[in-house]
Amino acid sequence: MVGMVMEPIPLTPVAPPPADGPTAGAASAPAPRPVWQRLLPEGVERRPPWLTVRAPVGEGVDRVAALMRQQSLATVCEEARCPNQGECWNAGTATFMILGDVCTRACAFCAVKSGRRGGDVDEDEPRRVAEVVARMRLRHAVVTSVDRDDLPDGGASIFAATIRQIRRLAPGTTVEVLTPDFQGDLGAVGVVMAERPEIFNHNMETVARLYRRVRPRSVYERSLAVLRAAKRMNPGSRTKSGLMVGLGEDAGEVQGLLRDLRAHDVEVVTIGQYLRPSLKHHPLIRFWHPDEFAALKAYGQGLGFLHVESGPLVRSSYHAADQAVAAAR
Ligand code: SF4
Repeated sequence: MVGMVMEPIPLTPVAPPPADGPTAGAASAPAPRPVWQRLLPEGVERRPPWLTVRAPVGEGVDRVAALMRQQSLATVCEEARCPNQGECWNAGTATFMILGDVCTRACAFCAVKSGRRGGDVDEDEPRRVAEVVARMRLRHAVVTSVDRDDLPDGGASIFAATIRQIRRLAPGTTVEVLTPDFQGDLGAVGVVMAERPEIFNHNMETVARLYRRVRPRSVYERSLAVLRAAKRMNPGSRTKSGLMVGLGEDAGEVQGLLRDLRAHDVEVVTIGQYLRPSLKHHPLIRFWHPDEFAALKAYGQGLGFLHVESGPLVRSSYHAADQAVAAAR
């Protein structure tokens, strides 16, 4: 994705102002909801228990953070404020975010910084990513990027170089790339697929109806075409996509998206709950219940996906190594 995202939100409600304060007894409007509560759906006062996560602390978190800092690398775990950072990093996994930490698009759901880029590329970044992959002894490396619409190939050559460097420095590691749509440039997709990643991932993010609001500079059909083209270019790679719920879609629309993915030869899908990063981002319309995620999983399995990862805290790269194993069967 390039990332589903959130800001830390207190899990307990902020106390109301004291009753004996200066306005006590005055006929005044009710106090506005605190910001963290306004990030929740209308009328909802706190996150449901199934979205409770541990803070990102611990030895594993410190170790991964130090490695990334040493090598001047970014992770989508941090940049997108992923709720699973504590779990993943303490388990020794992380998702690399290449091509810098500023994205040339500004999707309404995403916490990654956005702005203009001037064609800058760090040609040594692929080697440093591979070094960290080797040092972390990852069995499965996930590499994503910001959108780089300022580059002629959208950053495809740097994805390709990163795969080559991982093959060189960590030959036993499988590679998953989670790419932008390269503005539909299938030549750029071909540059990536020539390196035969084990998994090619491109996230649809949301249903067709919401694209104009949620991904205004992306095109639903174009993203589907990229996925199908990738599979045709290298049938040995597994294709994968991810989506969020909670943006205002209904179950029928999500089922329609899953059918579209299967019709475009996508083999693995991830489905997770959208969490609103800030008041500037798209409103969170509702929390989907774990039973609804289970129903979507069953629906996807019925369509013939090799693997469906569906749950409130699921993100593209959540348990990605296990997904890769499941999809390889
Ligand atoms: S789910 Fe992915 S992005 Fe989130 S912390 Fe884990 S590896 Fe990072």
